[in-house]
Amino acid sequence: MARTRDTFDSGSFRGVASFRAGLVDHRMARRHLINEYHRGRLGREEVCDAHPELMRAARGVGKQTETRCPICVEANLVLVTYVFGPRLAAHGKVVADNNELAQFHRRTEEYTAYVVEACCSCRWHHLVRVLPIGGQRANRRVG
Ligand SMILES: [Zn+2]
Repeated sequence: MARTRDTFDSGSFRGVASFRAGLVDHRMARRHLINEYHRGRLGREEVCDAHPELMRAARGVGKQTETRCPICVEANLVLVTYVFGPRLAAHGKVVADNNELAQFHRRTEEYTAYVVEACCSCRWHHLVRVLPIGGQRANRRVG
């Protein structure tokens, strides 16, 4: 399926394809990509192409990490969490903090949270984690 460059959804996250293909270990896919870049088999523009929406979120609410960007080594990576699911826009919702994430988790509808790392300096980005949230039964209390 062809996507236009402007479309922003969970398919915009690098690494989401391996997730959907059932490859559990994202770190391996990420490591492979970084190696390919450092071996010169991938150009920077091929790995540093974060969507403008993702960059905006990364600059606005990105959570700073202690991890240096593996590509430009100029800035630390930030983490952005997106939630996709019922009654949310197709481009998902950026979750600002853990409280907001917890609110989604308490709902009965099922959502999927995507945690993405991004570099505000070179626009490297990669999916870090995908987790199902929500889907709580009304009469169930999770301790
Ligand atoms: Zn970078």
